[in-house]
Amino acid sequence: MAAAQRRTTRTTPPRLRPVSALIALAALATVVVGALNMRVGPAWPYRLLPLVPRGIVVHHSATPTYVQGRQVDAAFLDEVHATQGWGMRYGERVYHIGYHYVILPDGSVEPGRPEWMPGAHTVGYNNYLGICLVGDFSRPAGHPPQPTRAQVDALVKLIRQQIKKHRLSPQRLYRHRDLDATECPGIGVPWEEIVARVNAGN
Ligand SMILES: [Zn+2]
Repeated sequence: MAAAQRRTTRTTPPRLRPVSALIALAALATVVVGALNMRVGPAWPYRLLPLVPRGIVVHHSATPTYVQGRQVDAAFLDEVHATQGWGMRYGERVYHIGYHYVILPDGSVEPGRPEWMPGAHTVGYNNYLGICLVGDFSRPAGHPPQPTRAQVDALVKLIRQQIKKHRLSPQRLYRHRDLDATECPGIGVPWEEIVARVNAGN
């Protein structure tokens, strides 16, 4: 009613006021971001004041090694995590991948998000480095496969490097399942061996 009355008395076409435009833009952005389920935060505060990792959490990708003919690697996981949100923008790049490192079955280590950036891998422990072993070591239940020898060797080496580099306490080395209600990284991961080798230095 009020709008109709106003329209009859208005002599100039209605204009969107700057404040209204801003509110409309913010609402639109909220809807779009919500619809895409994306929460991409800026990373620059952490570039100025880099995160100091407090420990290490080991994960598995809970995927086959290959999906539709494509190797599961850091780039693949980046795309998967893009659908889940919690990315971080730095410069031209958005880091969707929540892990800091990914270890492939052949033992090659790929970088995920930079070490100075908080992870997006374990609730309450994203100031820990997240390392992901590609594979599913929790299924089939009861007798899941183990990671390859090359993966285990690379994991031990990487953990030792990171402990030394960031002066981490070897006590702050966890499996995801030690910190949250999850099977990750699966009972197929020879955890006792890994911890023993990290501590023994071999
Ligand atoms: Zn995990």
